[in-house]
Amino acid sequence: MGNNNYFYRCIGCGRELDAPYSACPFCGGPVIIEYSEPRFRVDKSRPGIWRYGSLLPRFGETVSHGEGLTPISSVDGVLVKNEKKNPTGTYADRASAVIASYARSTGVRLMATEYIEAFTQSLLYYLKGIAKVRVLVRSLDSLSMDDIVRIYGMNNVDVTTKDTIIGDEARINYLNPLTIEGLKTIVFELYERGVRAENIVVPVETGVLAYSLVKGLDDLRRAGAEPGYTVVAAVVKGASVPEIVKRHGVKVAEIEAEEVLDALGRLTKKGFVTMPISAVSFAVARILGSSVAVLTMGFKPYRLYTGRGQLREEIIELLREKGRMTAYEMWKERQSYTLRAFYKVLRGMEARGEVCSEVVVRGARKVKYFKLCKNP
Ligand SMILES: [Zn+2]
Repeated sequence: MGNNNYFYRCIGCGRELDAPYSACPFCGGPVIIEYSEPRFRVDKSRPGIWRYGSLLPRFGETVSHGEGLTPISSVDGVLVKNEKKNPTGTYADRASAVIASYARSTGVRLMATEYIEAFTQSLLYYLKGIAKVRVLVRSLDSLSMDDIVRIYGMNNVDVTTKDTIIGDEARINYLNPLTIEGLKTIVFELYERGVRAENIVVPVETGVLAYSLVKGLDDLRRAGAEPGYTVVAAVVKGASVPEIVKRHGVKVAEIEAEEVLDALGRLTKKGFVTMPISAVSFAVARILGSSVAVLTMGFKPYRLYTGRGQLREEIIELLREKGRMTAYEMWKERQSYTLRAFYKVLRGMEARGEVCSEVVVRGARKVKYFKLCKNP
């Protein structure tokens, strides 16, 4: 495995494997990534989740669109980690950053995945320019209008109802070792910021998120840290608890559907528009106290991710968020574009009066900062 700091292992039979299989080819068990010398070191110069590169697989190339470092706010006394603030509006972007990095590093040009709303949309966005995605739609009824616009708005997609056989390596199910690595960075962020809470409450559908956070805590402990959080899987009373949650000792907390509606109301009034599944974590966190609720996704108005004006829009978004930045700093956050593309677009924007610049002397060199000329 050369310079790799990681290896794939089946947690069913313990075998070491050569690829990020969704299920172990020998026993069908889940596959995870383990680190040969786990260390937790934050590298603030790297974009997105890659600041935690010491506990992520070391790939030849990394892809980031500035995912992660999502804000934490207090809503009715509950700390809320707002994953809507990811590039496509969902926590899945963390997983996509790892999957896209794997694809780019290993030269995978085609990936196939079953259609799962937020996960697939995020994946399409991250694999743009890297790999084509074959999306398997089981039933036409499973596509909402919003989904259709988002899917067909991308040009790296091929939608099919046929479960075409392609190599296992190129098949990406939601449960796979790369997804787990991406999602676990949520606990790294809480730990890095020293957020004080006993519980991290997550909604449970497939159980992949809950399991990923447990794995993140395990990795931190192996690296010698003492994160001291407990992951709590929040479910609506009567719903089934996934096997992966049961088997790995994740604490489960049930909540009445009525309470979830109440939570939705509270969140919406505070400006957090989310899905019922996501509000479940908030409802449980309110009852438990001393908790961070992970709001996995939020409503993000649709915009086409492709096309001419896209980089310009990304620049405006970045400057709105950060105030002032150099072209290089922007490029570090959006590495799917070239640095040259940033200079080119910024020149045009400056000529049109959309951005203003100032030159600051830093040491012996001049640094050019850009900002939005007027605040809308
Ligand atoms: Zn196995």
